[in-house]
Amino acid sequence: MKPRDIFLTKLKRGTAPRIATGSVTSIVTTDLMEKVGVFFPEAHQVPEQMARLAAAGYTELGFDNVMPLFSVWHESAALGCEVNWGDRSRMPDGRACYQSIEHEISIPQDWLQRPSCAVPLEAIRLLKKEYGDEIAVVGKVFGPWTLGYDLFSVEEFLISTLINPDAVKRVLRTLLEITVAFAQAQIDAGADALTLADHCTRDLCSPETYLQFLQEIHQELHERIPCPKILHICGDTSDRIPFIQKTGIDCFHYDSKVPTPVARQLAGDRLALMGGTSNINLIRNGTAELITQDVQEKIAAGIDIIGPECAVPLDAPMKNLVWLAREAKRLGSNQS
Ligand SMILES: [Zn+2]
Repeated sequence: MKPRDIFLTKLKRGTAPRIATGSVTSIVTTDLMEKVGVFFPEAHQVPEQMARLAAAGYTELGFDNVMPLFSVWHESAALGCEVNWGDRSRMPDGRACYQSIEHEISIPQDWLQRPSCAVPLEAIRLLKKEYGDEIAVVGKVFGPWTLGYDLFSVEEFLISTLINPDAVKRVLRTLLEITVAFAQAQIDAGADALTLADHCTRDLCSPETYLQFLQEIHQELHERIPCPKILHICGDTSDRIPFIQKTGIDCFHYDSKVPTPVARQLAGDRLALMGGTSNINLIRNGTAELITQDVQEKIAAGIDIIGPECAVPLDAPMKNLVWLAREAKRLGSNQS
């Protein structure tokens, strides 16, 4: 079975010769950029460079998938947020474009053709052409909750969930269409699966808020986006994994704050689990022995795809990612 088939099979909890290994958030480190000779910010802005750096997830690190959207600002930049695309040691950052939740969102007709969206779409096409038979090409879209933070600022958006919930619901409905359209464009460009990232972490969104505003939205996104989806939410999500499981989404990309046996129990038999490896304790600061031990524990607990929990810190050593992928393949053989 090719890495692509292993990844896409494990994404649905199917039977494969080994567990999968990969990442659906950024795998870029400074030493990986040096190795490939492609750097931020060009890797956010030039399709060929974006594709080349993403491909390193397979060619240099040994993962079963690639994912070229390293930043979190692509859609928001196309919708009018001012974005600073950062540099070799800094991820991009942007500024909200509306001060009040009541401000009507104006969606430029050409937003999908603007560079911040057109570049990753072209990078997906290039990756599909060059590696599409061998490995899974994964795209990434942000859910309407995260887009709400970007467009209105986290403060304005969260306060509004308390004092103006109807306006928040209107905003979420409008931004849901952005998520669906960008997802479809990435599928048309060749994405086999998509990361759906929505930053409704426990510190910013209670379980009640999740139920009130988001479960239905995530369910609708699942129904309307016609490819396998990996929902990514950072932090301790143990109080909402049972809700996520009910949305029908294929796979949950979880944070190491949720111990894998707990995540497995909450996710049930159908929801696949991906990620879970601590970026700080293991990928940045861990030893080979600690990584091996963690991989063994995750396999024993029933994880489906092993990889970093979220975007890898730029100052982490790439050798730890290489070791992680290698150990996942070695120890995860014939587990199914
Ligand atoms: Zn994250």
